[in-house]
Amino acid sequence: MADKRDYYEVLGVPKNASDDEIKKAYRSLAKKYHPDMNPDNPEEAEKKFKEASEAYGVLSDAEKRRQYDQFGHAAFDAGAGGAGGAYDFSGMDFSDIFSDLFGFGDIFGGGSRRGASRNGPMRGADKVVDVRLTFEEAVFGVEKEIEVDSKEECKTCKGSGAKPGTSPETCPNCRGKGQVRVTTNSIFGQITSVQTCRECNGRGKVIRDKCPDCRGTGYTTIKKRYAVKFPAGIDNNGLACKIPGKGEPGQNGGPRGDILVRTLVAKHPIFQRQEYDIYSTVSLPFSVATLGGDVLIDTVDGQVAYEVKAGTQTDTVVRLKGKGVPTLRDKEKRGDHFVKFVVKVPEKLSAEAKETLRKFDSLSGDYLNAAKNAGVPKEKKKKGWF
Ligand SMILES: [Zn+2]
Ligand SMILES: [Zn+2]
Repeated sequence: MADKRDYYEVLGVPKNASDDEIKKAYRSLAKKYHPDMNPDNPEEAEKKFKEASEAYGVLSDAEKRRQYDQFGHAAFDAGAGGAGGAYDFSGMDFSDIFSDLFGFGDIFGGGSRRGASRNGPMRGADKVVDVRLTFEEAVFGVEKEIEVDSKEECKTCKGSGAKPGTSPETCPNCRGKGQVRVTTNSIFGQITSVQTCRECNGRGKVIRDKCPDCRGTGYTTIKKRYAVKFPAGIDNNGLACKIPGKGEPGQNGGPRGDILVRTLVAKHPIFQRQEYDIYSTVSLPFSVATLGGDVLIDTVDGQVAYEVKAGTQTDTVVRLKGKGVPTLRDKEKRGDHFVKFVVKVPEKLSAEAKETLRKFDSLSGDYLNAAKNAGVPKEKKKKGWF
């Protein structure tokens, strides 16, 4: 504990700071170091956050501050219990600061720290919305209007779930606590445990006459439309954007979660994508493969004519530079398009073409008569049984 920083130093206030100054200093530090605000470095932020919280916990309490001024950290370290290390936050109540800072009271998750958290404001969950895009839409980006089911407070009952003119009643089973003690007999004797009340699902209230419009849930679902911009280069399963504050509703006055828009990109009949590169297979006419010449290649930018060398073989791969997918960072920078050629053997030839090809054969090796010329016996084809 020797390297523990001075609480005044932690909060950046003078020793004679007023309660207001201390509160103000803590408020800005808490905002700065709140783990939710520091997604890139949550551990360091949480450490700083806890350090500031600890300092505030002491300096905001007149008696603790007096002790600290007199004895320093020793006032709390070695004393009762002496667990050595972790400061006990359990006696402190940050809820007023946090509810106005972040809209909710419990900061360390879990909810076990303070009994009040069950009924305190809670942020709603994020809602993931999948949007299907065509291959080309993902490559070049697109703006789309999306429709999302949105849970809204029921207007009829103003969210209470109770029929107008009535109101939710305190749950008789748990007397409003939301939890019940259950005693069970086991081989170890009687075991008492605390369970969520089943009558009210932990809410502490039950609705006798349900609101007809929301069937007692307090919410109705409406369709909402949002314009969403999908950036060029987005891939399958990519997070296109976040629509803040439009996710699931919070509880007890907590803020709504966010909408996370995720893309599902359709397969393309001829293009395959890997990161920012595109792959396709193109059939190469026999004559072009042999003599060299232009072949038409489909790209996401339309057809291009590509000149192949004479004697191009099947499985030859060529690169069309910059014909791939624009990168998310900079859409001017694009991946490449790799084309694999497969030489196409002609299947239907006219009599004249066949005759010409025979002539070609006799000029280029007489392969049609290879067996006869070499005197090699012909493997006999049998019909039916092997
Ligand atoms: Zn209702
Ligand atoms: Zn209950």
